[in-house]
Amino acid sequence: MGRRTVEIQGMDTTPCRGAQLPRLAAAAILLSALLPLPAVARPGGGQDYRGSSSGSSGGDSSSSSRPTAYASASGTDRGGSGDGSANPFVVLPVLGLLLAGVAVYMVRDFRRMQAAEKARSGAAAVPPAPPPPALADAPFHARARMLFHSLDEAWNRRDLSLVRAHVTDATFQRLSTQLRLLNAQGLRNATAEVALLELRAVSAEQDERFDTLHVRILAQCRDRDVPAHLDDAASRAAAGEAPLGPYEECWTFLRSQEAPAARGGEGACPACGAPLQLGETAACAHCGAIVNSGRFDWVLAEMTQAVEARPPAPLPEGAAALCAQDPGFSRQVLEDRAALLFWRWVEAQATGRPRALAKVASPAFLDSVQATRPAGAAAPFRACAVGSVELLSLHPEGPVQRARVEVRWSVEGRHRRSVLELHRTPGAQTPRAGLSTARCPGCSAPLSDNGQPACESCGEQLSASPRDWVLSGIEQD
Ligand SMILES: [Zn+2]
Ligand SMILES: [Zn+2]
Repeated sequence: MGRRTVEIQGMDTTPCRGAQLPRLAAAAILLSALLPLPAVARPGGGQDYRGSSSGSSGGDSSSSSRPTAYASASGTDRGGSGDGSANPFVVLPVLGLLLAGVAVYMVRDFRRMQAAEKARSGAAAVPPAPPPPALADAPFHARARMLFHSLDEAWNRRDLSLVRAHVTDATFQRLSTQLRLLNAQGLRNATAEVALLELRAVSAEQDERFDTLHVRILAQCRDRDVPAHLDDAASRAAAGEAPLGPYEECWTFLRSQEAPAARGGEGACPACGAPLQLGETAACAHCGAIVNSGRFDWVLAEMTQAVEARPPAPLPEGAAALCAQDPGFSRQVLEDRAALLFWRWVEAQATGRPRALAKVASPAFLDSVQATRPAGAAAPFRACAVGSVELLSLHPEGPVQRARVEVRWSVEGRHRRSVLELHRTPGAQTPRAGLSTARCPGCSAPLSDNGQPACESCGEQLSASPRDWVLSGIEQD
């Protein structure tokens, strides 16, 4: 279960998240944090996000409805110009050159440190290898650009079926929850004049199962919350009256290393080539393939707000012991599952339906949620946005396997840091068939929120002795 991080094309190597960096890296990150970063983002809720480190203007990125971006440095692919007050597009290229030089140095130093650390610990030693050749190639960039614009369209139309095949179950849950929360407040969010100014792969990771690409996105748009009853055209027109603002996010894409060349083109099942007709299940109606699992092509797994993007952290203590029991373990799969659980928890509280957690939470946790938020008692989760999701620690020994995952988020303008406690039964195995975050581990049926702890299709008990991670606690700062 080795894992390595590489820079892309020897430039702009500040990773979004992942491994521990040496002092030079810290300096580079600090330097980038001082930049007057753009602050706005729509799909994924970026416009409402309030970060923890709000010393710079970047601390104010927003959060709700649209995919998010990240701090960017040098740019080869920049078009248009923002009208941001601090004009970061003048400062960024200069500092970008500086950062690029520092970063190349930094990654080399980091690799040496990583190799030395692995040699010392003797855990999961992985020989250095070149990055997969397909990473960050032209087809990937085309796909990422397509998804950026499709997501904006889907968000504005409040119809996520447009992007269902290209986002993980957790990302789908996030976006659909945010749309429902907005609607519950009588609102919808609209954007206008959306432009993708820069898209750059900044780092890549690889474990036994997935290639992971972290991509910085610099974009701009006008956006506004408008009454939910307005139609698409009226909403877009209203958004056109809003000020134009830049925003930055870091998007994380995953693909299985076993991904074959996809069959058919856009709109066709990548497994059998039949026309795709995806409902809530993201499974091909013809052959049953789960098309958003990363088995066939890149899928969007995470949208991290720029203000929360950090260098990649090393795998936590306990990972080697867990991998000895579960060779298919993947940090990315676990974090995707954690994000799904978080958004289900938010929605259960916002709607006053704690029983909706029955399939994804331990019975004890469900009882505690019901005690504090009985059925019908909805919590005010307006303007809720997630900044980042990161695995903190793994505890594979004991009566259950435990994991702790940090979620940085904001609600109604207040920054929050929560630590999710997850657990599963010892001996549980991560599904090998790609990401299947919101599915029954017994039969792969989608996890409904019907309030029952058993799978409707195969009867598997999902919350008692669970084979997939379930929510067993949340610590709030
Ligand atoms: Zn198919
Ligand atoms: Zn089942």
